Amino acid sequence: MTARAAAPALGAPSAGATRYGPAPVENPALGEVFAHAPGCTPEQLDAVLDDAARAFPGWAATPFDARREHLLACHRALRAAVEPMAELLTREQGKPLKHARAEVRLAADWFAHTAHLVLAPRRLVDEPGVEVCLERVPHGVVAAIAPSNYPVLLAICKIAPALLAGNTVVLKPSPDTPLSSLMMGELLGEVLPAGTFAVVGGGTELGARLTVHPAVRLVSFTGSVDTGRAIARQAAADLKRIVLELGGNDPAVVLPGADVDAVARELFARSMTNSGQFCAAVKRVYVHRTQRRRLAEAMADLAGAAVVGDGLDPATEYGPLVSRAQRDRVAGMVDEAVRAGARVLAGGHVPDRPGHFYPPTVVTDLPSRSRLEEEEQFGPVVPVIAYDDPREAIDRADASPYGLGCSLWGDEDRARALAGRPRCGTVWLNTHGDLRHDVPFGGHRHSGIGVEYGPWGLHEYTQLKVHHIALRQADREMS
Ligand code: NAD
Repeated sequence: MTARAAAPALGAPSAGATRYGPAPVENPALGEVFAHAPGCTPEQLDAVLDDAARAFPGWAATPFDARREHLLACHRALRAAVEPMAELLTREQGKPLKHARAEVRLAADWFAHTAHLVLAPRRLVDEPGVEVCLERVPHGVVAAIAPSNYPVLLAICKIAPALLAGNTVVLKPSPDTPLSSLMMGELLGEVLPAGTFAVVGGGTELGARLTVHPAVRLVSFTGSVDTGRAIARQAAADLKRIVLELGGNDPAVVLPGADVDAVARELFARSMTNSGQFCAAVKRVYVHRTQRRRLAEAMADLAGAAVVGDGLDPATEYGPLVSRAQRDRVAGMVDEAVRAGARVLAGGHVPDRPGHFYPPTVVTDLPSRSRLEEEEQFGPVVPVIAYDDPREAIDRADASPYGLGCSLWGDEDRARALAGRPRCGTVWLNTHGDLRHDVPFGGHRHSGIGVEYGPWGLHEYTQLKVHHIALRQADREMS
């Protein structure tokens, strides 16, 4: 399935579909299949990877400035298609249309931001008789595997730096949200040289085949910890490089004396982003025992007033979960906590309506070792947990194997004094989940290996190559 050939087969019949044939795609707001995505057979995958391997030497030898121009052409191509791509994204993922538009615009602009990065060679040693230079060279074919929550943006965060560095790229989107990526493949196929970029449709089996294929030298993956672990195992046999951007279970610690009403609004918004389907959403709130009730009630009021619905309805603030399985997982974790004694202040039940909806939910009185505290639930649920000492709260949150982000809320000096304590990739003070194209983002411990964004992310798509030159006698005499 090359970028040029992969038109989404909207409405195509499923009759006769093999496991590699057209795959049904649901609209999660309706719980109904609305399209079929073309699947990629193992033979087609081999052919796509052969094309990518053949295109690699020419693309890697293309002058950096020319590759940069191609990225800017990608930026323009996507900018011209924001509206149709955003609508497709809302229909397959569920997010409100205005958020889908913002995702596609940001993704298009990511090409432009990335195009302005540089990969300059460096002279490390310049001594009589010896010269040592360092350059960064591409790996070869990159397999990019993307998740379902921000399928367009998170794919482009890989594609743009990988291409700029001189790699060729084969993208496999999530089978829950393949259509916007396939459309992107069509659009980018118009402006990129043949073989440099392709999109293949499929699920776990195709993803696994992609990660073990000998043509692939780097696997760049964003998704869950379990899948990341599987990919690390699959890539190990051939010692392929890996970049893993994995799940998070980010705590927010509200320091004693914080303005609870103001913080409640921020924490609610940052825990419910994309209906909680955001790796760096606030997934647990820790607050001093004396302020727990007020904060939890303020967040529950906001949850009760939130407008949940079909993302195509302009009034909608929060869409459905991406799939029934994901909704059932979230509901199951809340039910389990309630059975063990937790209290639900808002939401907490599957609504009686079609689609994979779950309401914004605020939970208190979690029993110890609740899965709702220890695991990433990836939905619109936030437990509010009381503490007696902020250091104890940070350490309790850190007992989880995740290490993506953490935020501290309240007096800035007190927050700065504690900022060294959390063991994670990003510590935010009085904000949470703010990501920027010019700041590295990655997880510690089980939340990932490597980083994305900015020059640090670009470097992941390169390997160091040293040129060590013993200068000839004549050169030595001249120098
Ligand atoms: P997922 O792990 O279920 O799937 C992600 C992708 O991996 C899909 O394309 C899937 O088909 C593919 N896949 C599954 N098994 C595979 C295998 N064995 N080999 C190769 N590919 C395979 O994740 P999801 O549910 O789509 O996304 C949600 C998860 O992603 C959450 O855990 C979230 O925190 C995480 N995430 C992390 C970041 C980050 O930057 N750290 C960003 C967004 C999402």
